[in-house]
Amino acid sequence: MLNIDLHSHSNFSDGVLTPKLVATRAQKNGVNAWALTDHDTVHGLSSARAAALDLGMDYVSGVEISITWATQTIHIVGLQIDETETTLVQGLADTRAGRLLRAREMATQLAAVGIPDTLNGALQYVSNPESISRTHFARHLVASGICTDISSVFRNYLVKGKPGYVLHRWATLQNAITWIRNAGGIAVVAHPGRYKLDAIAFNTFLSEFKELGGSGIEVVTGSHTVDQYQQYAKVAQHYGFLASRGSDFHSPSESRVDLGALPPLPENLTPVWHDWF
Ligand code: AMP
Ligand code: MN
Ligand code: MN
Ligand code: MN
Repeated sequence: MLNIDLHSHSNFSDGVLTPKLVATRAQKNGVNAWALTDHDTVHGLSSARAAALDLGMDYVSGVEISITWATQTIHIVGLQIDETETTLVQGLADTRAGRLLRAREMATQLAAVGIPDTLNGALQYVSNPESISRTHFARHLVASGICTDISSVFRNYLVKGKPGYVLHRWATLQNAITWIRNAGGIAVVAHPGRYKLDAIAFNTFLSEFKELGGSGIEVVTGSHTVDQYQQYAKVAQHYGFLASRGSDFHSPSESRVDLGALPPLPENLTPVWHDWF
């Protein structure tokens, strides 16, 4: 049986394990085809590929791109990309450049509510400063005793309306799909159940995504409930999208779903990997 996991993170973005250790854990969990999809970077992919091949897993090169669509942050996964393609490489570099600027502002705002020096704190958890993310701030605020767990840091400090939240403009939907397609890849809407879009806005988004050349959607992901597997299976069928499956694993202690531990895709969907192996 194919156990494929097409969404996971390493310490090249906001995961905690090296690409090699993510691969090792995936293989131990029974995964036989795997993609590392770090946020806005492909720098972990060469060691991911080497580790996957060493371990006898099929390897899929991936990335998760942050975009802004109608004031919402949305994530677009690119799969089967050529990670050396120049518009992709440059687009991701530009996207990462925004991360450090945003992080400085987050730290300034947190200092203003009496939590000093969080930039240096967060940077202690980062392997590459330009990949600094809210998750690194969250780890630091837990370690320094400000909050008891990661999700309460997000709830109290890092989401819209809270003191450490900084409005940020990421790439556009068109940027992300163009970079992925230039690199020969397939664009996939990540964890659609997580976005705060009403039905009309969500349908507008999916129509634009399709119009611009997007072709896949995550149906079974660590972010979805069992009901949402069925809900997004219907969405995939309605739009004629390929369906994807991925844990969105970040860390052994923080992730709700482990690598390879999700149920299979519902019936009657075309898997995004249907012609890959
Ligand atoms: P960023 O790209 O820096 O804005 O950070 C987004 C990342 O934060 C996501 O990829 C998740 O890993 C993590 N994240 C977002 N919301 C939450 C939450 N409510 N609880 C825990 N982690 C979250
Ligand atoms: Mn993340
Ligand atoms: Mn995501
Ligand atoms: Mn992710």
